[in-house]
Amino acid sequence: MNLVDQFQRRITYLRLSVTDRCDLRCTYCMPERQTFLPRAEVLTLEELHRLALGFIGRGVTKLRLTGGEPLVRRDMIELIRALGRKLGDGLDELTLTTNGTRLAEFAEDIAAAGVRRINVSLDTLDRASFARLARRDCLPQVLEGIAAARGAGLKVKLNTVALKGVNADEIPDLIAWAHGQGMDLTLIEVMPLGEVDQDRFDHYLPLDTVRAALERRFTLTASPHRTGGPARYVDVAETGGRLGLIMPLTGNFCDGCNRVRVTATGQLHPCLGGTEQVDLRAALRSADPDAALADALATAMRIKPERHTFAIRGPGEAPALARHMSATGG
Ligand code: SAM
Ligand code: SF4
Repeated sequence: MNLVDQFQRRITYLRLSVTDRCDLRCTYCMPERQTFLPRAEVLTLEELHRLALGFIGRGVTKLRLTGGEPLVRRDMIELIRALGRKLGDGLDELTLTTNGTRLAEFAEDIAAAGVRRINVSLDTLDRASFARLARRDCLPQVLEGIAAARGAGLKVKLNTVALKGVNADEIPDLIAWAHGQGMDLTLIEVMPLGEVDQDRFDHYLPLDTVRAALERRFTLTASPHRTGGPARYVDVAETGGRLGLIMPLTGNFCDGCNRVRVTATGQLHPCLGGTEQVDLRAALRSADPDAALADALATAMRIKPERHTFAIRGPGEAPALARHMSATGG
């Protein structure tokens, strides 16, 4: 049975978080002293694999591995290899989102497993600014990782969170740099997910403002390009490249939602911005995992909301959700 929600949206895309741990501490994502999950709570390699096969068997054709930082999980390459074997056999695309710090080590293995494209998060090209933002001085490693990934034949797309007073002034240069190397770049609005050490309003930068600023340097034309995701695209005449814009706050993107997310503990979140959840780990660890998983997924399709309602309205607001992006899988 394929996965179709109560609004007749077909779910064909799973974002699976394999760990909540990370080697960076991006200020907008998590506090410096983040409490991570005890390992026993995190799904085992076998459980992740079984779960992914359950989704593929129900019509999911695109699988993105994420986290936390997926490449800090020790058995990650084993999982990528196992899932890579489903490519062409139910799965059309296997991909991952990474901060890039360990790509130099793993790019060849990732490509050999059948992955063709990856997303790398990069918010700045300035080493000092990176060290402040990620609270770790790792920009050289990330750039080396990006080069290694491209050398291994992976197509790299960059994701950049737009942050007022942090990287706002640098965004045009970042776009020019990415496009100059043949990489697409997508800008993301910061979302109010989880408590961090600062007030999100201080850094919230609506992308319509960014777009207006970009238009002073570049000629932007709306592009019909779609990837089935929330991004809308513009072509940049001066660079010949494509720029994606993900505007969860200023432009609600829920109508065509085709995805669900599963955390590293097996909690299915039908909506990134909602509190709804279904416990797939309990299903997997039950006496009859196949039947329990079928029930749990049917429940998820019933409760997937029509749209998210989060917003950043002013200073001093509590997060819209207690859950961090690193827990849900960005
Ligand atoms: N560690 C990997 C990485 O950074 O690419 C994968 C997980 S990370 C949670 C996935 C994406 O979520 C990254 O592009 C990150 O910049 C973004 N992200 C994290 N917290 C966010 C927030 N509060 N609002 C918007 N994007 C966020
Ligand atoms: Fe780690 Fe990614 Fe969150 Fe940065 S955005 S702290 S790299 S999980």
